[in-house]
Amino acid sequence: MDADSIRTIPTISRIRAEGPLVDVLGGASRHEIRIHEHGFVALIDAMPRLVPQGQTADAAIVQAARVSYGQGTKKVSEDRGLIRYLMRHRHTTPFEMLEFKFHVSMPIFVARQWIRHRTANVNEYSGRYSIVPDRFYRPTPDAVRKQSKANRQGGEETFVRAPSASEGISPTPVAGAPGSDEALTAQAFLDYLAEAEALYAKYETLLNQGVSRELARIGLPVSLYTQWYWKCDLHNTLRFLSLRMDPHAQAEIRVYADAMHALLEPIVPVAMEAFRDYELDAVRLTGPEIAALRAGGGRPVSDNTREQSEWEAKILRLGLQS
Ligand SMILES: Cc1cc2nc3c(=O)[nH]c(=O)nc-3n(C[C@H](O)[C@H](O)[C@H](O)COP(=O)(O)OP(=O)(O)OC[C@H]3O[C@@H](n4cnc5c(N)ncnc54)[C@H](O)[C@@H]3O)c2cc1C
Repeated sequence: MDADSIRTIPTISRIRAEGPLVDVLGGASRHEIRIHEHGFVALIDAMPRLVPQGQTADAAIVQAARVSYGQGTKKVSEDRGLIRYLMRHRHTTPFEMLEFKFHVSMPIFVARQWIRHRTANVNEYSGRYSIVPDRFYRPTPDAVRKQSKANRQGGEETFVRAPSASEGISPTPVAGAPGSDEALTAQAFLDYLAEAEALYAKYETLLNQGVSRELARIGLPVSLYTQWYWKCDLHNTLRFLSLRMDPHAQAEIRVYADAMHALLEPIVPVAMEAFRDYELDAVRLTGPEIAALRAGGGRPVSDNTREQSEWEAKILRLGLQS
């Protein structure tokens, strides 16, 4: 036998953890938050899944950072300082050492926005392989939004406002009594969605008549729900949250991002606190804005209307003007 063809079997040393390890999901198979009538987002796995007792998955960020910074000090308070330092200075790779797997059910129009976040691994329900379930997103009457005048991509105020506790169940139109033009427009929108949902019966009929599942589905509306597994590292998940928890993101995806934030909070509390402090709740200033602040804050920063209105929004957020 040729000596080169003999495979050597390496010796594996299995080194025990220094102390007991605990499951960051507390032994649960999923931590789930329901969204609207048919949606959900569930955290179903994490890396690290096991951490030393008394610690959270934040420990994996510190462990990765210490490869570059050395052992240094090991106190928990110093771990927090290190994580906050890494986040402030955008030393991002230690945050990529953690991964989270979510199971999500959301309308197709939300999935289309979500899929743009390219660094995740995704496995989606197949409408070629299986019959798609009869599940559609329909906003409640008080969530039908008007086109925003300031933001071409957004909706803002609703046609119908939610009832206060004293008003009972039926929603009250913003302008006028029930039956006003605004309430009728909101109802017309909901009727239009109902008509689109009614196409499901046609889909089923065509399947029964032998049309392939891959073609029969293409006439269904984007309010139909899909599902996927979505796995992503913490750094890119935080980027997703930063973009999709932002008030400029569409409300229907924002509610998922808010839920993911809530699911991650107990798993990586220190990282999430730093994320809120340095990203989510932070205000980024441009060069012209800093110059305007130095000059007393009152002068315009740009003759571009959008840039100027963004500056005015920042001034309000900073509490510099009522
Ligand atoms: C409010 C809002 C409105 C939007 N409107 C539109 C719209 O009208 N039309 C539209 O098409 N999209 C729109 N988008 C999507 C947006 O342009 C981004 O595609 C999306 O937010 C994903 O951002 P990302 O590329 O940073 O994320 P990811 O794809 O997760 O990437 C994360 C980071 O990884 C790096 N990266 C990933 N892939 C590559 C690559 N191939 N090459 C180099 N670097 C890479 C980049 O640094 C990137 O920032 C909108 C997004 C938001 C939040």
